[in-house]
Amino acid sequence: MTQVSLLDALNPSQRQAVQHFCGPLLVVAGAGSGKTRALTHRIAHLVRQHQVDPAEILAVTFTNKAAREMKERIEQLFAEQEAHEQFGIPLAQLEPAQATRLKSRVYQRIIKPLWVGTFHSLFSQILRLDIEKYQDPKGRKWTRNFSIFDESDVQSLIKEIVTKQLNLDDRKFDPKSVRYAISNAKNQGWTPADLEHHQPNFRGRTIAQVYEVYQDQLAANNGLDFDDLIWIPVQLFRQNEQVLAYWHQRFRHILVDEYQDTNRTQYELIRLLTTNGEMQKSKLNWQNRSIFVVGDADQSIYKFRGADFTILMEFQEAFGDGLPDDDTRTMVKLEENYRSTATILQAANALIDNNTERIEKVLKPTRSQGDPIFCYQADDEMAEAEFVVNAIKRLENKDPDVSWGDFAILYRTNAQSRPFEEVLMRWGIPYIVVGGQRFYDRKEIKDVVAYLRAVVNPADSLSLLRIINVPRRGIGKSTIDKLTQAAATLNVPLWEILSDETSIHTLAGRSAKPVIQFVQLLEHWHQQLAQAKATEILEGLLRDSGYLEDLKAQATEEAEERARNVMELYNAARQFEEEQGDPSLEAFLSNVSLASDLDNLQEGSEKVSLMTLHSSKGLEFPVVFLVGMEQGLFPNFRALEDPAALEEERRLCYVGITRAREQLFFSYASERRLYGNREAAIPSLFLSELPKELIELDKPGAIPRPLSRGTTLPISATPKARPAARHSRSEQWSIGDRLEHPQFGRGHITHVFGSGERVTIAVKFPGIGQQKILDPRIAPIQKL
Ligand code: ATP
Ligand code: MG
Repeated sequence: MTQVSLLDALNPSQRQAVQHFCGPLLVVAGAGSGKTRALTHRIAHLVRQHQVDPAEILAVTFTNKAAREMKERIEQLFAEQEAHEQFGIPLAQLEPAQATRLKSRVYQRIIKPLWVGTFHSLFSQILRLDIEKYQDPKGRKWTRNFSIFDESDVQSLIKEIVTKQLNLDDRKFDPKSVRYAISNAKNQGWTPADLEHHQPNFRGRTIAQVYEVYQDQLAANNGLDFDDLIWIPVQLFRQNEQVLAYWHQRFRHILVDEYQDTNRTQYELIRLLTTNGEMQKSKLNWQNRSIFVVGDADQSIYKFRGADFTILMEFQEAFGDGLPDDDTRTMVKLEENYRSTATILQAANALIDNNTERIEKVLKPTRSQGDPIFCYQADDEMAEAEFVVNAIKRLENKDPDVSWGDFAILYRTNAQSRPFEEVLMRWGIPYIVVGGQRFYDRKEIKDVVAYLRAVVNPADSLSLLRIINVPRRGIGKSTIDKLTQAAATLNVPLWEILSDETSIHTLAGRSAKPVIQFVQLLEHWHQQLAQAKATEILEGLLRDSGYLEDLKAQATEEAEERARNVMELYNAARQFEEEQGDPSLEAFLSNVSLASDLDNLQEGSEKVSLMTLHSSKGLEFPVVFLVGMEQGLFPNFRALEDPAALEEERRLCYVGITRAREQLFFSYASERRLYGNREAAIPSLFLSELPKELIELDKPGAIPRPLSRGTTLPISATPKARPAARHSRSEQWSIGDRLEHPQFGRGHITHVFGSGERVTIAVKFPGIGQQKILDPRIAPIQKL
């Protein structure tokens, strides 16, 4: 019975994948076919059916959020089963206290020991244990308490190297592009020497030089960048057989989701761990060992980060034994889509069929036809946002089961969120920009994290410099300059100068006292590292440094907001301790550094989600708006001239379409402000590739292929899709007008925004003592 319930909610192919025990298996299938579901169930199945120790399972997900979700689902699967076994009833029927106890037992026994996370989070944990065994070709050293440098740390370090240390012209060697080139090299597994070898010109040589100094600087700060978290384990595994053998023995079952977006170094890590570095396939021993990957080549969208979907296509060659029946033993195809209505799925299949670089596959709908797809032509980007928000309001209003969290607005570039944010804000609709201003990028959070990093890793000079005079403690810029110069001249970490009182008295003069106090503060908490929990240290630092007090003393709204954010970080630490069971500050800091922007997306938080198409991978929403469907925007300009880039954009569109479960909307503007200028826009090629019969148009006729500018389109909103007009268009509203609302009572207009069709009004209702912003076309108001 237990087995039945685990395999119950799966189709025969999914079941085959879930029941696979040893050896390699590739699951390839289109979007929404239950790949992630199969992967999750397989983990549960390995533990329950094959008594695999959860600690021997390594599962790689694409985001931290996906990792959390996966753990929750596995916990749920186990809890369901154990409720049946122990009490003979479904989990939902247990007493709440009983259910909680059962879940927490499952958590301790199964979920906690599992290794589920992104490549970066998993391999940073391995480095926390083994980095001291790594031998850098240039003798650089890192210790286990290394800091992880985020993108802005890295950018400023590279800028400093380019402009100050190597005195290069930063117009020729733009720090951003240099950074990109170095990152690229690391993703290819190249050392500076390799980079020079591959690009033996002046530029290549110079970038290799920056790369070399950059690594020196990282090591001097005991810091690693994101690429190092992958690239250093690869080198470590290659140079140290014992280390590799240990992890190879440890992780007998490796599972990877979204395998199509793996890059070469990530692949190399998986290969090394699975094969123990053995190159001859005939010598591989698959007893009690497996590699299980799931992916969809049509959803490969991270080429710009080195992702390469040929890795997916070569899976069987790389891991299979090449026997004649290999294909069926090492590959499972899933052919049914459970996510989307038939209409949405047909649109997705038709679109992707235009790509030449792909393997044909079947993806059949299991759901009914559903509503047609709606395509809206707006006058400009503001009108587009108004349309989308109106449609959201209307749908949310219509059905009590629908909530704000059911909607997603997907766009090609981050900057496109602004008009949507403005209109959502105007209506007071809760929303979240996934991947926008990240919590961990805020100044106050970076400050406090710098304190924590300096406590863990005093060699991290970048962090020390960030907080040495924050809050102000009377250490001026000239003193700081003297201290850093001394460190540079003596070629020692800044900390060595700071922690030497004599040097401080010499160099800092009148500021010596605050410097010494600052050092004592960090030293004190550094000594507590082994025994104190992350929350205790954080609390102590916030108090002793005067950071929070300083914010409070400022007594501005902004400072209050900052203080709230700092407390939110404290909450995050507390939550982390409870969830992870490792209360150390080092563990919490790793988690902070790796928290990806996608983690902003909270489940069940009932907010409209705004995000780029890239961020939407793997997610699903009942209603999806794909906006900005214009040539040059989506597909982007580069893709207009490069067929391979166009195919990547089309895959991105395929990803977007297949996020929708019930309803899909497209929109585009006929005029858009780009780089400050108003430009006439041409509808996206992708729209013309969709089957006409699936799209709701207001006049019959095709969407013309967007060949030239000035093409007019016969589509615009159908009257039915527009919010029902309660008031005639000619109704004029002006400040001072009096009106009545059935709920809010009588009121008068205080502001009028926009004009004509897009007018909204602010109304003061003295009866309820509030001001409301209303859309006169849909608000149930009566002019008095
Ligand atoms: P993507 O390619 O977008 O990552 P996926 O292949 O990983 O998609 P899932 O996210 O696992 O697909 O599943 C898509 C949806 O279909 C989910 O809501 C899932 O719960 C549901 N689903 C998957 N398999 C089944 C099934 N056998 N029966 C019913 N629903 C299913
Ligand atoms: Mg998935």
